[in-house]
Amino acid sequence: MSAVIWPLPKVEEHAFADWRDARPATVVTTTAAWSAVRQQLHGLNVAAVLEVTTADVDAWQALRSHVTGEVIYAVGGGLAVDAAKFLACERALPLVCLPTALSVDAFFTWASGVRSDGCVRYLVTRPPDLVLLDYAVLAAAPPSIRAAGMCDVLSIATGSWDWRFAEARGQNPPSMRYLGWADHIAAAILAAALDCAEAAGRGDRDGLKQLVDCLALEVQLCNQIGHARPEEGSEHYFAYAVENAVGKGLPHGDLVGPGIVLMAQAQGQDVTPLRRALDACHIPLDRILPAVVQQTLAELPAYVRRHALPFGIAHVLGEG
Ligand SMILES: [Zn+2]
Repeated sequence: MSAVIWPLPKVEEHAFADWRDARPATVVTTTAAWSAVRQQLHGLNVAAVLEVTTADVDAWQALRSHVTGEVIYAVGGGLAVDAAKFLACERALPLVCLPTALSVDAFFTWASGVRSDGCVRYLVTRPPDLVLLDYAVLAAAPPSIRAAGMCDVLSIATGSWDWRFAEARGQNPPSMRYLGWADHIAAAILAAALDCAEAAGRGDRDGLKQLVDCLALEVQLCNQIGHARPEEGSEHYFAYAVENAVGKGLPHGDLVGPGIVLMAQAQGQDVTPLRRALDACHIPLDRILPAVVQQTLAELPAYVRRHALPFGIAHVLGEG
């Protein structure tokens, strides 16, 4: 078992327009994100711009030889930062991350989520060296992704439930042993997220800052215990499974948000506060057709077994 405890990146609040870096840089980005902020990034010495379209290792490998310069900049959301972490790791270059929306927790993690055989696998890559936060940029993001990282904190509600459920059923392997103290910390982070949902959803600086704090604490809690059970459970499994039916391209929150509501319902939890927070953060809960939701739920127990995902409510759906 690995004894590594990963750190969070250094995080600095800074207007993108005032940022200066003379090092020749490769920018890893997505079309929409780059066109939204490129004008503000005149302080970068851009040597190459690589646009990413899929979370696919082969596609990222193909970009490897196009990386040039002394530093990599990730500009965008989860897809850009996951690809940039991979390329920074492969090319052993420093990595600066410029989020254009608080859409996921990936800005703070050391792994890159990749699609593989109809599921999502996390490759060990590396955390960014620096994350620059420009709250005016985040506030100006499209509302449905602006604070969609809320989903990666609200998922504590269903992920932690799964962890306790697995414990009660004797299904936690030694490496994911249930820890009451970690569960309590996760619950406090969840409460802080519910508390800031409205302000973050509106794009208020203080609300977005509190969401950053929640994301960072959630990530570091998982780093300390060496797994993501307090934060990742059946709601993410639903998201991974349903992506096969709806196709790639929907934002993480559009998939995980409905997963949280569906799994919390299956767990017998009160979904009212979760729904309120998702609504406040403009997470669309209706992007997946009802028939597709039903089909995915019906197939989920077999899906999670096939992909050997850690035990949770998804494993026993439909068992009465
Ligand atoms: Zn997630």
